[in-house]
Amino acid sequence: MHPISMSNTYVAPLSTMDAILGGAPGYTYGRHHNPTVDLLAEAVCQLEEGEVAFAYSSGMAAVHAALMALQLRAGDRILLSRDLYGASLNLVEQLFAPMGIEAIEEDLTDLNRVEEGLRRHRPRLVLLELISNPLLRLIDGKAITEIAHRQGAQVIIDNTFTTPLMAKPLTYGADFVVHSATKYLGGHGDAIGGIIVSHEHHQARLHSQQKLLGTILGPFEAWLLHRGLKTLALRFPRQCQNAARLATLLHESGRFRRVHYPGLAHHPEYHLAPKLFADGLLGAVVTLELPEDKRAVFKFLESLNLVVPATTVGDVYTLALYPLIASHRSQTEEARKAMGITEGTVRIAVGIESVDDIADDILSAAASL
Ligand code: PLP
Repeated sequence: MHPISMSNTYVAPLSTMDAILGGAPGYTYGRHHNPTVDLLAEAVCQLEEGEVAFAYSSGMAAVHAALMALQLRAGDRILLSRDLYGASLNLVEQLFAPMGIEAIEEDLTDLNRVEEGLRRHRPRLVLLELISNPLLRLIDGKAITEIAHRQGAQVIIDNTFTTPLMAKPLTYGADFVVHSATKYLGGHGDAIGGIIVSHEHHQARLHSQQKLLGTILGPFEAWLLHRGLKTLALRFPRQCQNAARLATLLHESGRFRRVHYPGLAHHPEYHLAPKLFADGLLGAVVTLELPEDKRAVFKFLESLNLVVPATTVGDVYTLALYPLIASHRSQTEEARKAMGITEGTVRIAVGIESVDDIADDILSAAASL
């Protein structure tokens, strides 16, 4: 139904080429535009209720492009959620800090601290995710956007874990939404890509940056991600429902020191969760606390049959990640402790399988300890 346009050059009468190179819609060169890539970007733009969207070679390229679009300068500050995806924190520290841009990490679950942080540091920008990884604390993106705008800061929200089915941050005024489309949007573990959705007035800068840097997504990946996106509305709610049921089953089994999921009554934002997200969806990740012993966690992971140890989320298969050796490997023990991540923390990104099969697999692996 949707062809892949692999061409890197588009032939047109010279007058048409002249007009396109001057800014008219159309195709000339694959680093500038591609019809298959545009199709994906437009679809995500509609889902997010944005005005413009661009697709990038990865989620990280999208995060970087959103930061670059703000034209930060030496002396500017960025307020970052302390629990942000590790590579996004590293990106700011390794690429922006050497240019004199200061990163301030803050616990954004506490709105008083957000207000105080904004007043004290006067950042140009706040960068956050709505569900923290891996402990699944919830962040009130709408309230933070309002506070940030009052203090003159712009807001980038990484909507990867929540998807537009749970939240549409542009509708409450966020300046940029970014996605690792690699995860739920694509959904099949077969392509890497990123998306930015934003407002009309950012279009020119985002596009000229993308043309200069050559960060546009490849057409084949765009085609795969677009094909995956067509089933997002079936996959993602099923994954969230599976996660909610799995969290209850694992919590009630009494086999884990703690089960983290926003739908469990002991979760710190349990009462806030329905207010923050649409359609009763609370995300498709459940995090477990096993014994604080690396060997025991390895044994647990090696005993799994259905659940696959892997370093991503959003696949149709259920995946398990050990933050200590993967996502939070480069953090110090002290930093991990401050976030609440222990040697026993294991993240389960729930897939679309039968939830009873997933629970049986996890419970029998836990019984082997
Ligand atoms: N943002 C979040 C929340 C992520 O989890 C990831 C990857 O895990 C990224 C961004 C980066 O995406 P990618 O791996 O597509 O570059």
